[in-house]
Amino acid sequence: MTITLLCCRCLKNFERSKILYEKNLRLGKRIFCSRSCVGKDQGGQTGKKNKRSVFNYYLERAKCRNGKEATITLTDLQKQWKKQRGICPYSKIALRHAKKQRKLKDERWWEVASLDKMDSKEPYIKENVEFVGLPINLAKNSNSKTATIELMDVIKERFELEKIEDYRFNSV
Ligand SMILES: [Zn+2]
Repeated sequence: MTITLLCCRCLKNFERSKILYEKNLRLGKRIFCSRSCVGKDQGGQTGKKNKRSVFNYYLERAKCRNGKEATITLTDLQKQWKKQRGICPYSKIALRHAKKQRKLKDERWWEVASLDKMDSKEPYIKENVEFVGLPINLAKNSNSKTATIELMDVIKERFELEKIEDYRFNSV
């Protein structure tokens, strides 16, 4: 059985077996229509090291997820980063840009920036994106901004209640 997919490089539709697609999904790999597009994707990552290219990472992922609905541009991303001064609006942590091969075991991985859709039902458009810390984006998932702020408040509140006994130190 085949399904229609969107190539992460050329943004064209193509057919692929459902089994292969699901395997890629499990591995968290991006999907390409051809070897040529895989090659271009890898080639495009090296060499360029100007200020804008750090934002390419986010742009490519956004296009990969939303296709042509993702109308944000490199300039929008640059402006957004400047506007929030590279600070995560939830955790107030100073963010740093993600590398292509993101490793969750990196030291201080919580500083890695991740592009969040404030309203996850809307596409990647300039009014709907902001940079947040990677762990925040993982915790936020498809929840709303309000629900995520609530979660932060709950964690902070519970954490500060020192009287809450830690089960790890109280079991037999
Ligand atoms: Zn392609």
